[in-house]
Amino acid sequence: MGPSPSEVDVVIIGSGQAALATAYFLRRTGLSFVLLDAEQAPGGAWQHAWKSLRLFSPASWSSIAGRQMPADTVGYPTRDDVIDYLADYERHYRVPVERPVLVDEVRREGERLSVGSGSRRWLARAVVSATGTWRHRFIPPYPGLEDYIGRQLHSADYVEPRPFAGKRVLVVGGGNSGAQILAEVSTVATTSWVTLAPPLFLADEVDGRVLFARATERWKAQREGRAIDLPVGGLGDIVMVPPVRDARERGALHAVRPFSKFTVTGVVWPDGSGEAIDAVIWCTGFRPALAHLQALDLIEQDGRVQVDGTRASKCSNLWLVGYGDWTGAASATLIGVTRTARSTVAEIRSELATRTSDL
Ligand code: FAD
Repeated sequence: MGPSPSEVDVVIIGSGQAALATAYFLRRTGLSFVLLDAEQAPGGAWQHAWKSLRLFSPASWSSIAGRQMPADTVGYPTRDDVIDYLADYERHYRVPVERPVLVDEVRREGERLSVGSGSRRWLARAVVSATGTWRHRFIPPYPGLEDYIGRQLHSADYVEPRPFAGKRVLVVGGGNSGAQILAEVSTVATTSWVTLAPPLFLADEVDGRVLFARATERWKAQREGRAIDLPVGGLGDIVMVPPVRDARERGALHAVRPFSKFTVTGVVWPDGSGEAIDAVIWCTGFRPALAHLQALDLIEQDGRVQVDGTRASKCSNLWLVGYGDWTGAASATLIGVTRTARSTVAEIRSELATRTSDL
Protein backbone atom coordinates (compact mmCIF):
# COMPACT_ATOMS: atom_id res chain seq x y z
CA MET A 1 0.00 0.00 0.00
CA GLY A 2 1.35 3.42 -0.98
CA PRO A 3 0.41 6.69 0.76
CA SER A 4 -3.25 7.72 0.41
CA PRO A 5 -3.98 9.70 -2.77
CA SER A 6 -4.42 13.47 -2.91
CA GLU A 7 -7.95 14.36 -4.01
CA VAL A 8 -8.44 17.20 -6.44
CA ASP A 9 -11.05 18.28 -9.01
CA VAL A 10 -8.65 18.45 -11.95
CA VAL A 11 -5.14 17.12 -12.60
CA ILE A 12 -3.31 18.69 -15.54
CA ILE A 13 -0.39 16.58 -16.74
CA GLY A 14 2.46 18.76 -18.03
CA SER A 15 3.32 22.43 -17.52
CA GLY A 16 4.19 23.62 -21.00
CA GLN A 17 2.17 26.33 -22.72
CA ALA A 18 -0.88 24.05 -23.24
CA ALA A 19 -1.06 23.14 -19.55
CA LEU A 20 -0.51 26.75 -18.42
CA ALA A 21 -3.21 28.14 -20.74
CA THR A 22 -5.61 25.51 -19.36
CA ALA A 23 -4.63 26.48 -15.79
CA TYR A 24 -5.32 30.14 -16.63
CA PHE A 25 -8.98 29.39 -17.38
CA LEU A 26 -9.32 26.83 -14.57
CA ARG A 27 -8.29 29.31 -11.87
CA ARG A 28 -11.41 31.33 -12.63
CA THR A 29 -13.76 28.37 -12.02
CA GLY A 30 -13.19 27.75 -8.33
CA LEU A 31 -12.29 24.13 -9.06
CA SER A 32 -9.23 22.75 -7.28
CA PHE A 33 -6.40 21.68 -9.56
CA VAL A 34 -2.71 20.77 -9.75
CA LEU A 35 -0.19 20.53 -12.58
CA LEU A 36 2.22 17.58 -12.57
CA ASP A 37 5.29 18.11 -14.74
CA ALA A 38 8.21 15.82 -15.51
CA GLU A 39 10.76 18.62 -16.04
CA GLN A 40 13.11 20.09 -13.43
CA ALA A 41 12.15 23.69 -14.32
CA PRO A 42 9.45 25.74 -16.10
CA GLY A 43 9.27 26.08 -19.89
CA GLY A 44 8.09 22.67 -21.14
CA ALA A 45 9.81 21.43 -24.29
CA TRP A 46 11.29 24.85 -25.05
CA GLN A 47 14.03 23.98 -22.53
CA HIS A 48 15.30 21.36 -24.96
CA ALA A 49 15.19 23.40 -28.17
CA TRP A 50 18.49 24.24 -29.83
CA LYS A 51 20.38 27.32 -28.66
CA SER A 52 19.86 29.55 -31.70
CA LEU A 53 16.13 28.82 -32.15
CA ARG A 54 13.95 31.82 -32.88
CA LEU A 55 10.16 31.82 -33.16
CA PHE A 56 8.35 32.36 -36.45
CA SER A 57 6.27 35.24 -35.15
CA PRO A 58 6.80 38.38 -33.10
CA ALA A 59 6.11 38.31 -29.34
CA SER A 60 2.61 39.77 -29.75
CA TRP A 61 1.73 36.68 -31.82
CA SER A 62 3.46 34.23 -29.49
CA SER A 63 1.59 34.65 -26.23
CA ILE A 64 -0.89 32.55 -24.29
CA ALA A 65 -4.05 33.61 -22.46
CA GLY A 66 -4.02 36.72 -20.29
CA ARG A 67 -0.41 37.86 -20.45
CA GLN A 68 1.67 39.11 -23.36
CA MET A 69 5.23 38.02 -23.96
CA PRO A 70 7.39 41.16 -23.50
CA ALA A 71 8.16 42.67 -26.90
CA ASP A 72 11.49 44.26 -26.00
CA THR A 73 13.62 41.67 -27.77
CA VAL A 74 15.41 42.35 -31.03
CA GLY A 75 13.68 40.46 -33.85
CA TYR A 76 11.54 37.44 -33.07
CA PRO A 77 11.73 35.86 -29.60
CA THR A 78 14.47 33.34 -28.85
CA ARG A 79 14.13 30.01 -27.09
CA ASP A 80 15.27 31.65 -23.85
CA ASP A 81 12.68 34.43 -24.23
CA VAL A 82 9.94 31.79 -24.36
CA ILE A 83 11.33 29.92 -21.33
CA ASP A 84 11.53 33.19 -19.35
CA TYR A 85 8.01 34.12 -20.43
CA LEU A 86 6.52 30.78 -19.33
CA ALA A 87 8.44 30.83 -16.03
CA ASP A 88 7.16 34.34 -15.34
CA TYR A 89 3.63 33.29 -16.32
CA GLU A 90 3.73 30.48 -13.75
CA ARG A 91 4.94 32.85 -11.04
CA HIS A 92 2.54 35.65 -11.92
CA TYR A 93 -0.57 33.46 -11.77
CA ARG A 94 0.81 31.32 -8.92
CA VAL A 95 0.16 28.20 -10.96
CA PRO A 96 0.30 25.16 -8.62
CA VAL A 97 2.92 23.00 -10.34
CA GLU A 98 4.60 19.98 -8.80
CA ARG A 99 7.87 18.93 -10.44
CA PRO A 100 9.66 16.85 -11.27
CA VAL A 101 6.72 14.43 -11.40
CA LEU A 102 6.65 12.00 -14.32
CA VAL A 103 3.14 10.58 -14.52
CA ASP A 104 3.45 6.93 -15.42
CA GLU A 105 -0.17 5.87 -15.31
CA VAL A 106 -3.73 7.15 -15.50
CA ARG A 107 -6.47 4.61 -14.76
CA ARG A 108 -10.20 4.59 -14.09
CA GLU A 109 -11.30 4.44 -10.48
CA GLY A 110 -15.09 4.49 -10.34
CA GLU A 111 -16.22 7.85 -11.73
CA ARG A 112 -12.78 9.33 -11.16
CA LEU A 113 -9.34 8.95 -12.65
CA SER A 114 -6.34 7.86 -10.64
CA VAL A 115 -3.10 9.54 -11.71
CA GLY A 116 0.08 7.78 -10.61
CA SER A 117 3.77 8.65 -10.44
CA GLY A 118 5.85 5.97 -8.74
CA SER A 119 4.30 5.50 -5.32
CA ARG A 120 2.38 8.83 -5.41
CA ARG A 121 -1.23 9.06 -6.49
CA TRP A 122 -3.81 11.78 -7.20
CA LEU A 123 -7.53 11.07 -7.48
CA ALA A 124 -9.15 13.49 -9.92
CA ARG A 125 -12.68 14.14 -11.17
CA ALA A 126 -11.19 15.23 -14.49
CA VAL A 127 -7.76 14.97 -16.12
CA VAL A 128 -6.23 17.17 -18.80
CA SER A 129 -3.30 15.59 -20.59
CA ALA A 130 -1.02 18.31 -21.97
CA THR A 131 2.20 16.36 -22.39
CA GLY A 132 3.18 17.56 -25.87
CA THR A 133 5.36 15.50 -28.16
CA TRP A 134 8.98 16.11 -27.13
CA ARG A 135 9.23 12.85 -25.18
CA HIS A 136 8.15 10.77 -28.18
CA ARG A 137 10.58 11.24 -31.07
CA PHE A 138 9.97 9.61 -34.42
CA ILE A 139 12.76 8.04 -36.51
CA PRO A 140 11.65 6.33 -39.74
CA PRO A 141 12.77 2.74 -40.31
CA TYR A 142 15.63 2.41 -42.83
CA PRO A 143 17.28 -0.86 -43.91
CA GLY A 144 20.66 -1.34 -42.23
CA LEU A 145 20.12 1.36 -39.61
CA GLU A 146 21.01 -1.04 -36.78
CA ASP A 147 24.46 -1.65 -38.35
CA TYR A 148 25.39 2.00 -38.84
CA ILE A 149 28.15 3.01 -36.42
CA GLY A 150 28.25 6.77 -37.11
CA ARG A 151 26.74 9.33 -34.75
CA GLN A 152 22.94 9.72 -34.78
CA LEU A 153 20.82 12.21 -32.98
CA HIS A 154 17.25 13.44 -33.16
CA SER A 155 16.50 17.15 -33.53
CA ALA A 156 15.04 16.92 -30.00
CA ASP A 157 18.62 16.55 -28.71
CA TYR A 158 20.34 18.92 -31.13
CA VAL A 159 21.92 21.89 -29.34
CA GLU A 160 24.46 23.60 -31.61
CA PRO A 161 26.59 22.98 -34.74
CA ARG A 162 30.07 22.90 -33.12
CA PRO A 163 30.31 19.11 -32.55
CA PHE A 164 29.80 18.61 -36.31
CA ALA A 165 32.64 20.88 -37.48
CA GLY A 166 34.56 19.34 -40.40
CA LYS A 167 32.27 16.30 -40.55
CA ARG A 168 30.15 14.83 -43.32
CA VAL A 169 26.55 15.13 -42.05
CA LEU A 170 23.14 14.01 -43.32
CA VAL A 171 20.18 16.08 -42.19
CA VAL A 172 16.98 14.07 -42.70
CA GLY A 173 13.55 15.74 -42.75
CA GLY A 174 11.84 18.43 -44.80
CA GLY A 175 10.17 20.62 -42.17
CA ASN A 176 11.30 23.71 -40.33
CA SER A 177 13.58 21.82 -37.92
CA GLY A 178 15.35 20.19 -40.87
CA ALA A 179 15.77 23.48 -42.73
CA GLN A 180 17.00 25.41 -39.69
CA ILE A 181 19.39 22.74 -38.44
CA LEU A 182 20.73 22.22 -41.96
CA ALA A 183 21.21 25.97 -42.26
CA GLU A 184 23.46 26.19 -39.23
CA VAL A 185 25.28 22.84 -39.50
CA SER A 186 26.15 23.64 -43.14
CA THR A 187 28.21 26.61 -41.91
CA VAL A 188 30.74 24.22 -40.31
CA ALA A 189 30.22 20.81 -41.98
CA THR A 190 29.66 19.23 -45.38
CA THR A 191 25.95 18.49 -45.45
CA SER A 192 23.34 16.67 -47.50
CA TRP A 193 19.66 17.34 -46.93
CA VAL A 194 17.38 14.34 -47.38
CA THR A 195 13.63 14.92 -47.75
CA LEU A 196 10.83 12.60 -48.91
CA ALA A 197 9.52 15.23 -51.34
CA PRO A 198 10.83 18.63 -52.46
CA PRO A 199 10.51 20.96 -49.43
CA LEU A 200 7.75 23.58 -49.45
CA PHE A 201 9.31 27.00 -48.97
CA LEU A 202 7.11 29.95 -48.09
CA ALA A 203 7.69 33.35 -49.65
CA ASP A 204 10.36 35.36 -47.82
CA GLU A 205 7.84 37.85 -46.42
CA VAL A 206 5.52 35.15 -44.96
CA ASP A 207 5.93 34.41 -41.25
CA GLY A 208 3.99 32.68 -38.49
CA ARG A 209 1.34 35.39 -38.46
CA VAL A 210 0.20 34.47 -41.94
CA LEU A 211 0.27 30.76 -41.14
CA PHE A 212 -1.81 31.29 -38.03
CA ALA A 213 -4.33 33.47 -39.87
CA ARG A 214 -4.71 30.73 -42.49
CA ALA A 215 -5.09 28.03 -39.82
CA THR A 216 -7.83 30.16 -38.23
CA GLU A 217 -9.61 30.53 -41.57
CA ARG A 218 -9.50 26.77 -42.03
CA TRP A 219 -10.80 26.23 -38.50
CA LYS A 220 -13.73 28.60 -39.06
CA ALA A 221 -14.54 27.06 -42.43
CA GLN A 222 -14.49 23.57 -40.90
CA ARG A 223 -16.88 24.60 -38.13
CA GLU A 224 -19.23 26.19 -40.63
CA GLY A 225 -18.98 23.27 -43.09
CA ARG A 226 -17.57 25.52 -45.84
CA ALA A 227 -15.05 24.41 -48.46
CA ILE A 228 -11.99 26.66 -48.45
CA ASP A 229 -9.25 27.22 -50.97
CA LEU A 230 -6.19 28.84 -49.38
CA PRO A 231 -2.70 29.17 -50.83
CA VAL A 232 0.10 26.88 -49.65
CA GLY A 233 0.90 27.45 -46.00
CA GLY A 234 0.42 24.59 -43.60
CA LEU A 235 2.04 25.18 -40.21
CA GLY A 236 4.79 22.75 -41.31
CA ASP A 237 5.87 24.64 -44.44
CA ILE A 238 9.29 26.23 -44.27
CA VAL A 239 9.49 29.79 -43.03
CA MET A 240 12.43 31.65 -44.56
CA VAL A 241 13.99 32.86 -41.31
CA PRO A 242 17.35 34.68 -41.79
CA PRO A 243 19.65 31.64 -41.28
CA VAL A 244 17.60 29.64 -43.82
CA ARG A 245 17.79 32.52 -46.31
CA ASP A 246 21.51 32.68 -45.72
CA ALA A 247 21.82 28.94 -46.43
CA ARG A 248 19.91 29.49 -49.67
CA GLU A 249 22.37 32.23 -50.68
CA ARG A 250 25.26 29.82 -49.98
CA GLY A 251 23.61 27.12 -52.12
CA ALA A 252 23.30 24.82 -49.08
CA LEU A 253 19.52 24.50 -49.22
CA HIS A 254 19.45 21.81 -51.85
CA ALA A 255 17.39 18.73 -50.92
CA VAL A 256 17.71 15.22 -52.37
CA ARG A 257 15.40 12.19 -52.12
CA PRO A 258 16.20 9.45 -49.60
CA PHE A 259 19.07 6.96 -49.77
CA SER A 260 18.09 3.32 -50.11
CA LYS A 261 19.91 1.87 -47.08
CA PHE A 262 22.55 2.34 -44.43
CA THR A 263 25.91 0.61 -44.46
CA VAL A 264 28.21 0.27 -41.44
CA THR A 265 29.85 3.63 -42.17
CA GLY A 266 27.43 5.50 -44.41
CA VAL A 267 24.59 5.21 -46.90
CA VAL A 268 23.85 3.88 -50.37
CA TRP A 269 22.05 6.28 -52.72
CA PRO A 270 19.33 5.13 -55.18
CA ASP A 271 21.86 5.10 -58.08
CA GLY A 272 23.89 2.48 -56.17
CA SER A 273 26.75 4.77 -55.15
CA GLY A 274 27.93 4.59 -51.56
CA GLU A 275 28.98 7.52 -49.37
CA ALA A 276 30.70 7.69 -45.99
CA ILE A 277 28.70 9.69 -43.45
CA ASP A 278 29.97 10.76 -40.01
CA ALA A 279 26.64 11.76 -38.50
CA VAL A 280 22.91 11.70 -39.17
CA ILE A 281 20.58 14.29 -37.65
CA TRP A 282 16.98 13.06 -37.69
CA CYS A 283 14.61 16.00 -38.10
CA THR A 284 11.75 13.61 -38.64
CA GLY A 285 9.33 14.82 -36.07
CA PHE A 286 7.49 13.63 -33.03
CA ARG A 287 4.41 11.69 -31.99
CA PRO A 288 2.08 12.52 -29.09
CA ALA A 289 3.68 11.57 -25.73
CA LEU A 290 0.84 9.44 -24.40
CA ALA A 291 2.52 6.46 -22.71
CA HIS A 292 0.88 7.46 -19.41
CA LEU A 293 -2.59 6.80 -20.93
CA GLN A 294 -1.83 3.19 -21.93
CA ALA A 295 -3.96 1.61 -19.18
CA LEU A 296 -7.07 3.46 -20.39
CA ASP A 297 -6.95 1.43 -23.60
CA LEU A 298 -7.81 4.32 -25.88
CA ILE A 299 -4.65 4.95 -27.91
CA GLU A 300 -5.39 4.26 -31.58
CA GLN A 301 -3.13 2.70 -34.25
CA ASP A 302 -1.91 6.15 -35.30
CA GLY A 303 -0.71 6.87 -31.76
CA ARG A 304 -3.47 9.39 -31.07
CA VAL A 305 -6.62 9.33 -28.97
CA GLN A 306 -10.00 9.71 -30.64
CA VAL A 307 -11.45 13.04 -29.49
CA ASP A 308 -14.62 15.10 -29.78
CA GLY A 309 -13.07 18.55 -29.72
CA THR A 310 -10.49 17.96 -27.00
CA ARG A 311 -12.44 15.38 -25.00
CA ALA A 312 -11.51 11.70 -25.28
CA SER A 313 -14.39 9.89 -26.96
CA LYS A 314 -13.82 6.77 -24.87
CA CYS A 315 -13.19 8.41 -21.48
CA SER A 316 -15.61 11.17 -20.56
CA ASN A 317 -13.43 12.80 -17.88
CA LEU A 318 -10.22 13.03 -19.92
CA TRP A 319 -9.26 15.96 -22.17
CA LEU A 320 -6.19 16.40 -24.40
CA VAL A 321 -4.81 19.88 -25.05
CA GLY A 322 -1.91 20.92 -27.32
CA TYR A 323 -0.34 18.08 -29.42
CA GLY A 324 -1.41 19.16 -32.93
CA ASP A 325 -4.31 20.01 -35.20
CA TRP A 326 -6.15 16.83 -34.16
CA THR A 327 -6.86 18.53 -30.81
CA GLY A 328 -7.79 21.86 -32.43
CA ALA A 329 -6.40 23.95 -35.28
CA ALA A 330 -2.99 25.40 -34.37
CA SER A 331 -3.31 24.08 -30.80
CA ALA A 332 0.40 23.13 -30.80
CA THR A 333 1.37 26.80 -31.09
CA LEU A 334 1.60 29.49 -28.43
CA ILE A 335 -1.06 31.71 -29.92
CA GLY A 336 -3.31 28.85 -31.02
CA VAL A 337 -3.63 26.94 -27.76
CA THR A 338 -5.69 29.59 -25.93
CA ARG A 339 -8.75 28.77 -28.02
CA THR A 340 -8.73 25.06 -27.14
CA ALA A 341 -7.73 25.66 -23.50
CA ARG A 342 -10.75 27.95 -23.09
CA SER A 343 -13.24 25.53 -24.64
CA THR A 344 -11.75 22.61 -22.68
CA VAL A 345 -12.22 24.36 -19.35
CA ALA A 346 -15.79 25.37 -20.27
CA GLU A 347 -16.56 21.68 -20.90
CA ILE A 348 -14.88 20.51 -17.70
CA ARG A 349 -16.78 23.07 -15.70
CA SER A 350 -20.18 22.04 -17.03
CA GLU A 351 -19.34 18.33 -16.79
CA LEU A 352 -18.27 18.55 -13.15
CA ALA A 353 -21.27 20.70 -12.27
CA THR A 354 -23.55 17.86 -13.37
CA ARG A 355 -21.66 15.21 -11.43
CA THR A 356 -22.36 14.97 -7.76
CA SER A 357 -21.97 11.26 -7.19
CA ASP A 358 -18.18 11.41 -7.17
CA LEU A 359 -17.83 14.28 -4.74
P1 FAD B 1 5.43 20.79 -24.19
O1 FAD B 1 6.08 22.12 -24.30
O2 FAD B 1 6.16 19.60 -24.73
O3 FAD B 1 5.10 20.58 -22.65
C1 FAD B 1 4.68 19.32 -22.18
C2 FAD B 1 5.21 19.15 -20.77
O4 FAD B 1 4.70 17.93 -20.26
C3 FAD B 1 6.73 19.06 -20.70
O5 FAD B 1 7.19 19.82 -19.62
C4 FAD B 1 6.97 17.57 -20.50
O6 FAD B 1 8.15 17.25 -19.82
C5 FAD B 1 5.75 17.19 -19.67
N1 FAD B 1 5.41 15.78 -19.73
C6 FAD B 1 5.42 14.94 -20.79
N2 FAD B 1 5.03 13.70 -20.42
C7 FAD B 1 4.78 13.77 -19.09
C8 FAD B 1 4.34 12.83 -18.11
N3 FAD B 1 4.07 11.56 -18.44
N4 FAD B 1 4.20 13.24 -16.83
C9 FAD B 1 4.45 14.53 -16.49
N5 FAD B 1 4.86 15.46 -17.37
C10 FAD B 1 5.02 15.08 -18.65
N6 FAD B 1 5.19 27.30 -31.78
C11 FAD B 1 4.93 28.62 -31.93
O7 FAD B 1 3.88 29.09 -31.47
N7 FAD B 1 5.80 29.44 -32.60
C12 FAD B 1 6.98 28.98 -33.09
O8 FAD B 1 7.73 29.73 -33.70
C13 FAD B 1 7.31 27.59 -32.90
N8 FAD B 1 8.50 27.08 -33.31
C14 FAD B 1 8.80 25.77 -33.04
C15 FAD B 1 10.05 25.28 -33.43
C16 FAD B 1 10.38 23.97 -33.16
C17 FAD B 1 11.71 23.44 -33.58
C18 FAD B 1 9.48 23.11 -32.49
C19 FAD B 1 9.84 21.66 -32.20
C20 FAD B 1 8.23 23.59 -32.10
C21 FAD B 1 7.88 24.93 -32.39
N9 FAD B 1 6.63 25.43 -32.03
C22 FAD B 1 6.35 26.77 -32.24
C23 FAD B 1 5.58 24.49 -31.55
C24 FAD B 1 5.11 24.49 -30.12
O9 FAD B 1 4.94 25.78 -29.59
C25 FAD B 1 5.86 23.57 -29.15
O10 FAD B 1 5.98 22.27 -29.65
C26 FAD B 1 5.30 23.56 -27.72
O11 FAD B 1 6.36 23.23 -26.89
C27 FAD B 1 4.11 22.62 -27.40
O12 FAD B 1 3.62 22.94 -26.10
P2 FAD B 1 2.89 21.89 -25.15
O13 FAD B 1 2.57 22.59 -23.89
O14 FAD B 1 1.80 21.22 -25.90
O15 FAD B 1 3.99 20.74 -24.90
